[in-house]
Parts: sequence; C-alpha cells; structure tokens
Amino acid sequence: MTDPAAGAAEAPTGAEWAAAVAAVRRLPADARVLLICHVNPDGDALGSMLGFGLGLRRLGVRRLQATFPGPPELPEPFRWLPGRDLLVPQDAAYPDPDLVICFDAASESRLGDLVDRLDTAGTALVLDHHASNTRFGGVNLVDPHAAATSVVAEGLLDRLGVPLDADIAACLYVALSTDTGSFRFEATTPAVHEMAARLLATGIRPGDISQRIYDTRPFGAVRLFGEAIGRARLEPGAAGGRGLVWTYATLDDLARHDQPPYVLEALIDSVRCTAEADVSCVVKQVAATEWAVSLRSKGAVDVSRVAVALGGGGHRFAAGFTGRGSADEVVDRIRAELDEALLPA
Ligand code: 5GP
Ligand code: MN
Repeated sequence: MTDPAAGAAEAPTGAEWAAAVAAVRRLPADARVLLICHVNPDGDALGSMLGFGLGLRRLGVRRLQATFPGPPELPEPFRWLPGRDLLVPQDAAYPDPDLVICFDAASESRLGDLVDRLDTAGTALVLDHHASNTRFGGVNLVDPHAAATSVVAEGLLDRLGVPLDADIAACLYVALSTDTGSFRFEATTPAVHEMAARLLATGIRPGDISQRIYDTRPFGAVRLFGEAIGRARLEPGAAGGRGLVWTYATLDDLARHDQPPYVLEALIDSVRCTAEADVSCVVKQVAATEWAVSLRSKGAVDVSRVAVALGGGGHRFAAGFTGRGSADEVVDRIRAELDEALLPA
C-alpha cells in the first residue's frame, strides 16, 4: 500500500537488492541464520518468514531457526504451515547469529525481547512492506507498494535462484491472501494475482488453505464473537461525520469461552462491514490496563495516522497500537485523533 505521507515510500533500489542477495550468498557453510517476525504474528509474518526459511534450506543453509517474541504457540489456523519445524521458542534462539532476517515488522518496537539480535547479529536484513518502516536493519528491503511482505520475500528468493515448491508456495500464499483480505483489498494489483498464479501453479490447494485459515473456528469463539458484536456501538458523528463502529473483548470474555487471545484477530472483520461507519475498531484486552487495538478504514480516514499518534503503526486503511487505561479511555483517545486523520475527499 502506498502512503504518500511517508518519506520512504519507494521500492528497494537495485543496490539494496544486491546487498540483500550478497548478505545471503556470502554466508559460510556453517553460518547460523535466525529468522524473526513481529509479536502476535499474523499470516504475512509467519508465511513470509517460514516460506523464506524453506527457501534458505533449499540453498543449503543448515543452521537455521525461526522465532517470534512472546509465547511460542502458533495460532491454530497456522499450525499446519510447512516450515514450522524451523520454529524455536525465543529463549532458544541463537543469541548472536551470523545473519538475522526480520519479516513484516515496521519498527524495532514490534520485536519484543528479540530486538537485541539486530545488534548481536553479524548482519541484520529487514524485509517489510509498511510505509512507516523505520529502516532499522543494516540492509533494508522495504517495499511500501508490495501488498504483503511475502511479495518482497518471493522477490529475494527469485534473485537467489530458489525455485518455488509447494511448501514454500503454501507459506507465501497464506501471507499474500491474509494481507490482501483474500484478494479483496485495494492492494490486490495485477502483480498480486500474477504472484498468486505462480504459487498456485505449484499445486497448492487454495480451497483447503482458505478453509483452514478463515473458515474454521471453535464454537466458543463463535459465541464470543456473538457477544462482542452484540455490544458494538455505532457513532455516526465520529470521524467528521463518516462514522465509527467499535467494540471490545476482555480477558474475562476469553476465559468464559475458554478461548486463546488470537481468536480475536478475526473479530474486526465482522465489525468493519458496518455500512454506516467508515472507521471500525476493536479493543482487545491483553492485561489489566493494556489493550491491543485494531483500526480499519474504508477510505475516508488514514488510520495509520491515528495509530502512529497513539504509539503504534500500520497501513493507511489497517493499523493498530497498544492502548493503556480502560477501554473507554482508549476509544476516547481514538475519537480525538480521528478528525486529524481525515483524508481529502
Ligand atoms: P491488526 O489490526 O490486524 O493487528 O494490524 C493491522 C496493521 O497494523 C498491521 O499492519 C500491523 O502491522 C499494524 N499494527 C497493529 N498493531 C500494531 C502496534 O501495536 N504497533 C505497530 N507499530 N503496528 C501495529
Ligand atoms: Mn504484512
């Protein structure tokens, strides 16, 4: 997604691609490579990281780990991903790898305790597609025009001469599909469909993959969604009259329905369809006074501006941040920022 407000909204240069290729090619045979991605990893973070990891394995990299900050459990929809055998808990990750490669993180703040690897690694390579990316690597491949980080990962695999196989393709397809909202968002360019065609040509089954990642949910999560949607509030006057719809879910809600936090990632999709609101928001409790906030816009508001103003980041029409206080206080702060973030009609 392009963000004209950001300074670094250019695709990687030829020199940056060459530096990234060199960083991989010059690795000695016994080099330790650590792959990392952002906290609460989503389909793009995990899919681009594991797909690229499988490509490195094909290149002969033997000492290879993948990890992410926080508890090591994968969300259930991603537990089948090829390459999951590369995953280690963050505490077991190489403390000083020869190369660290970071996927789908717009800033160092998204790396939790793994942020130190940017300094301890011989080389730090960053693959990302957020316009707000702070270019915190030694080598940066940041393409704000790319629909997903997996687009950048595929570009680098191609330049390294790694052919796609079905396992790599399944990972990259999950990443591409999730970050384009199943090929529905504006970022779904001809190049996205061309990449999808290359991935599908390996024989992967899009129906099976979609059912696993979108259409399978425990009954407890279905009931929890019902409760959260039932208390959603519509504020037609918010965002300069373009409208805000929002709801929340607490740790108690999760406990009552015996559900893990990641099931709430999909809740925003059931809220953002509200016709009367341009902006949608879900406030998800992660600790007593800490909330993970998801923001979406249909086009009238740059929600990344709201998120950045409140300490987070993301894309123009999909962004997030960590809010503190009560859910009402967090939403009060969002409401106050929304008018500042209206885009020209
Ligand atoms: P989601 O609402 O699906 O969690 O995130 C939407 C977008 O906002 C993603 O691109 C994600 O990277 C970004 N995002 C979500 N939460 C945060 C946050 O706490 N900090 C930053 N910098 N970005 C976030
Ligand atoms: Mn992404």
